[in-house]
Amino acid sequence: MGLSGATISAPLGCCVLRCGAVGGGKALKADAERWRRAGWSRRVGGPKVRCVATEKHDETAAVGAAVGVDFADEEDYRKGGGGELLYVQMQSTKPMESQSKIASKLSPISDENTVLDLVIIGCGPAGLSLASESAKKGLTVGLIGPDLPFTNNYGVWEDEFKDLGLESCIEHVWKDTIVYLDNNKPILIGRSYGRVHRDLLHEELLKRCYEAGVTYLNSKVDKIIESPDGHRVVCCDKGREIICRLAIVASGAASGRLLEYEVGGPRVCVQTAYGVEVEVENNPYDPSLMVFMDYRDCFKEEFSHTEQENPTFLYAMPMSPTRVFFEETCLASKDAMSFDLLKKRLMYRLNAMGIRILKVYEEEWSYIPVGGSLPNTDQKNLAFGAAASMVHPATGYSVVRSLSEAPRYASVISDILGNRVPAEYMLGNSQNYSPSMLGKHFSGIYSSWLVRFYCVKVQTS
Ligand SMILES: Cc1cc2nc3c(=O)[nH]c(=O)nc-3n(C[C@H](O)[C@H](O)[C@H](O)COP(=O)(O)OP(=O)(O)OC[C@H]3O[C@@H](n4cnc5c(N)ncnc54)[C@H](O)[C@@H]3O)c2cc1C
Repeated sequence: MGLSGATISAPLGCCVLRCGAVGGGKALKADAERWRRAGWSRRVGGPKVRCVATEKHDETAAVGAAVGVDFADEEDYRKGGGGELLYVQMQSTKPMESQSKIASKLSPISDENTVLDLVIIGCGPAGLSLASESAKKGLTVGLIGPDLPFTNNYGVWEDEFKDLGLESCIEHVWKDTIVYLDNNKPILIGRSYGRVHRDLLHEELLKRCYEAGVTYLNSKVDKIIESPDGHRVVCCDKGREIICRLAIVASGAASGRLLEYEVGGPRVCVQTAYGVEVEVENNPYDPSLMVFMDYRDCFKEEFSHTEQENPTFLYAMPMSPTRVFFEETCLASKDAMSFDLLKKRLMYRLNAMGIRILKVYEEEWSYIPVGGSLPNTDQKNLAFGAAASMVHPATGYSVVRSLSEAPRYASVISDILGNRVPAEYMLGNSQNYSPSMLGKHFSGIYSSWLVRFYCVKVQTS
C-alpha cells in the first residue's frame, strides 16, 4: 500500500521522574511488566505517580506532551493511558487553531474571596454542559481546567443529538449504519449516524456557558480540601485557591487524585482504537452508509497467536467516495491493545481490501477506559462524565449521556444548595445539606446494571 502526502507518526518514549507507592499482588503482575517494558520503574515511598514525556514525534502533534502528569495510583495510571500515555497526550494536545479559547469567551473567576456555589473541574463535554446547566438554575458557577480544544472525533446517533438541540453541530450524516460480522452480508441497523463537528460543539457549549454566566479559570486543579467552615477549597496551579460550597470533578477518566473510588471493585478495562482520515483509491464502502463495525477477518495467519487473541474491527466513516475516516478498534481488553498493533492491523486490513492511501489528513489515538470502580458515594466531592465512569461499557461512548444527564444533575444540585431539599439529604437538625448523601443520590447515575454486568464479563473472559 502506498503512503504519500503525510507520514504516520509514532511517539518515541517517556520516562519516570518519580513513582509512588502502588499496589502489588498477582492481579497487577501484568501491569508491572507493562510498566517495565514501557521504560517505567516503581519505587515505594511517595503518594503518587509522576511521569513526563521526554521526546516528541514531531513539533506540532506533541505540543504540551512534555508536561508532567501525576497519577494517584496504578489504576489511575491505567485510566490515564498506561503504556500508551504518550499517544494519549498527543491526542489531547492536538492544536486546533479554529477553536476558540475558553478564556476569550468566559469572564474570569473573581479574584476576590467570594464563595461560589459550585466549581466544576474539567472543560470537556461533561464539564462544559454541567456548568451551563447549573448556572441556568441560578447558581454561581466557576469552571476550572486547562484551556484546551476538543480534539476527538465524536460519532453519535443523529436522533440523540437532535433531542439535545445539537443537530447544528453535526457535520455529516449517514442515513443508515451497517455491521458486518463474519460474512459479506451487511446487517442494517436502521438508525442514522452523525459525525460531530468538534469546533461547532465546543463553540455551542461555550456559548451556553457564556449565556448562563459561568466564569472561568485556566488552571489545573491540584487538590480539593475542606475549610474550617465546611466550604470546599479548590487548590489550583500557582497557589490560587477558589472557595465554593460544592466541587464537582469532571476531569476525565483519570481523576483519582481528586476523587475516591470504591475499593475492591473490578479493574478497569480499556478500549483502544487507531484511526486515520485519508484520501484513498478503491474505497469499497457505500458513502451513504456508516460502517459501525466490520468484524470480517482478513488477518488469517498474519499475526502471531498472542496478537490474534483480541479481535478488532473496522469503524469507517466515508465522508465522500474517496475521503474516509478508518479506525481499527479493540472494543475492550484487560490490558490495552497497543496503538502500534492496531495501526499494523489497520494497514494490513486496508491493503488486503485493495484500498490505497493517497493522503493522510489526520491520525487519532482513542484510549477509553471502560468499567472499573465507581466513585465512592461517601465523599464530599461529586463526579460527572468519564470521571464518574458514565461511559457505556460496550461502546465507550459517554458524550451524549453526559450532555443528556446534565440538566437533571444540575437540577438536584440546585435544589440541594438552595435548601429545597428532601429530609434525607440533611444532617440531623442542621440546615446544612450532607454532601455524602448527595453522592448517594447520584449513585444511580454513576452506576448501571450494564456496567456491572460488562465488568464481570470482561474480568472473567
Ligand atoms: C479519540 C477519542 C474518540 C472518542 N470518541 C467518542 C465518541 O465518538 N463518542 C463518545 O460518546 N465518546 C467518545 N470518546 C470517549 C469519551 O466520551 C470522551 O473521552 C469524552 O471526551 C469524555 O468527556 P469528559 O468531559 O467526561 O472528559 P474529557 O473530555 O476527558 O475532559 C476532561 C477535561 O478535564 C481536564 N482535566 C484533567 N485533569 C484536570 C485537573 N487536574 N484539573 C483541571 N482540569 C483537568 C482535561 O484537560 C479535559 O479538558 C472518545 C474518546 C477519545 C479519546
